[in-house]
Amino acid sequence: MASVATHPTQSRTMILDIIRASRMISRVELAHATGLTQATVSNVVRRLLEDGFVVEVGRGASTGGKPRTLLRIEPTARYALGVQLGADATTFVLADLGGATVSRWRRPALTDPEEAVDVIGTEVEGSLERAGVPRDRLIGLGVVAPGPQLAASGIALAPPAMTAWVDFPLRARLEDRTGLPVLLDNDATATAVGLYWADGITATTTIAALFMGQGIGAGLLSGGQVYRGATSNAGEIGHVTVDVDGPPCWCGNRGCVEMLGGTAVTVERARAAGVDLGPQDRPTLAAFGALARRALAGEPAALEVVERSARFVAVAAHTLVNVVDPDLLVLTGPAFAVAGPLYLPVVTEVVTRTRFARGSGPIEVRLSTHGPESAALGAAALVLQAELAPRGGDPA
Ligand SMILES: [Zn+2]
Repeated sequence: MASVATHPTQSRTMILDIIRASRMISRVELAHATGLTQATVSNVVRRLLEDGFVVEVGRGASTGGKPRTLLRIEPTARYALGVQLGADATTFVLADLGGATVSRWRRPALTDPEEAVDVIGTEVEGSLERAGVPRDRLIGLGVVAPGPQLAASGIALAPPAMTAWVDFPLRARLEDRTGLPVLLDNDATATAVGLYWADGITATTTIAALFMGQGIGAGLLSGGQVYRGATSNAGEIGHVTVDVDGPPCWCGNRGCVEMLGGTAVTVERARAAGVDLGPQDRPTLAAFGALARRALAGEPAALEVVERSARFVAVAAHTLVNVVDPDLLVLTGPAFAVAGPLYLPVVTEVVTRTRFARGSGPIEVRLSTHGPESAALGAAALVLQAELAPRGGDPA
């Protein structure tokens, strides 16, 4: 088999991945699925049992000979907290080792980075207490924000509403405040990892997560690994030009998908068309939610502007599919959490009509089931992924 792993860390990661994705599996099935020897599987599983990451649960059906003991992830062994910094709200998700959401909650948008460090620190303590999770089981904090950003230390370039964050040493300050390891990443990238982690998707699936919130971006995942590119800015599909003479964008480009079909411009168009979206100073995503509800109720002017947006978003999706060639395209993020049913048919039609034909069947396009929490859940999943797939020499 071509995919046999030889490095102990790779074996551990691969085995954990398969246990997680299959929910329950025997050692024999693990050996079969990974191509590893039974001896290697037994060694890795013994370590995972010692670490408490995996437990034995009852016995599966025997195929003759000795009945097989089944293995599953022990969800309460570790927890991670994910935080999504948004221009409209701050979203928190506490997730367990199985990728399940233990609790989720929202706070107002954090506009001052100094204050944010303090608020997040307080939320970490409060969430553990509320969920009854021992502090030593929380392995870290994942913080995600709209990209592009410098994943290692802080936000290097932010959309207009979040410029106060630029060059703030967010990671170092949060680590000081919480005493936890902190991972920073792009919200769309995190969303792809969250889907992989929480939805039982295996490493054989190539996932493109098209994220729409304040902006439009994409997270890419293949072979169970995120594709980040050279500077963690892969997937900035919202900044593909769809009109070379279009309006200038904050990114420095012109006529970007985000400028022509994003939530902000769509809200503006709806207001200009006389659609009642509440007070003018209402945050963009709240106004967009109101627009989506009117469109879903069949109000013609609302439907028209949303459908116009969907045509631009479909161009972004189509470009993404042509570049990445995924099996699965997932529409995710807060905008799709409300307006997804309006965008899904338009995107599906464009993607499947024009996509290069392959022997392996049509691409699957679907809406995320994690709603507006998808990026915060993904932030937690990034931490779990880093814990379970340690880099460097972890002896099997
Ligand atoms: Zn742009």
